[in-house]
Amino acid sequence: MDGGVARRIVDALLRQHPGADTELHFRTPFELLVATMLSAQSTDARVNLVTPALFARYPDARRLAEAVPEDLEALIVSTGFFRQKTRALLGMAAQLVEHHGGEVPASMDALTALPGVGRKTANVVLGHALGVPGFPVDRHVLRVATRLGLASGTDPVKVEAQVCAALPASLWTQASDALILHGRRVCRPTTPLCSRCAARTDCRYPPATADAPRRVRTPRR
Ligand code: SF4
Repeated sequence: MDGGVARRIVDALLRQHPGADTELHFRTPFELLVATMLSAQSTDARVNLVTPALFARYPDARRLAEAVPEDLEALIVSTGFFRQKTRALLGMAAQLVEHHGGEVPASMDALTALPGVGRKTANVVLGHALGVPGFPVDRHVLRVATRLGLASGTDPVKVEAQVCAALPASLWTQASDALILHGRRVCRPTTPLCSRCAARTDCRYPPATADAPRRVRTPRR
């Protein structure tokens, strides 16, 4: 997409969702990495309920790497997939200690080499906690970005590349946050509220004149 149009769309979404940011609570890159890993198949609100006790007990990678699995499971059980997440958290913490002095590395390659850390999680941490531009693509970003014509296709990596090519790096993280909020509040999967959409004149999905909630077909992801 033309960079000027992409910028116009993102500016409109940022005006509609001022202060768009991750809704996960964190104080350090380590806490955001843990919270983001826990948010898989869960909600930010649910994760924010369990992380205060979790971070009080395991404030850094060294402490988490020494955790007893059953103790960790008990703290995160309500986020779902708790055994799988416990294995990933313990593996991640051990590798941070072994290879990175206990710190979270500020590079995509190093982050995605950690157990349980995919590209989306890495981009969240890079963009929000480490000052490195990142464009996380979740299901909301995938849906809204393609409806708006910012990208095409269903491959998150390709969508990330297309949007990043159309926007300055300084906007990537904010743009992702705005697209996520827009997808949650306005551009819903089956009933997008097009009449409330600040970017509707540039939208390629339903007619731009749509002035009422529409029921549309969306492939399951
Ligand atoms: S006009 Fe409708 S479909 Fe297009 S981005 Fe806005 S809410 Fe989504």
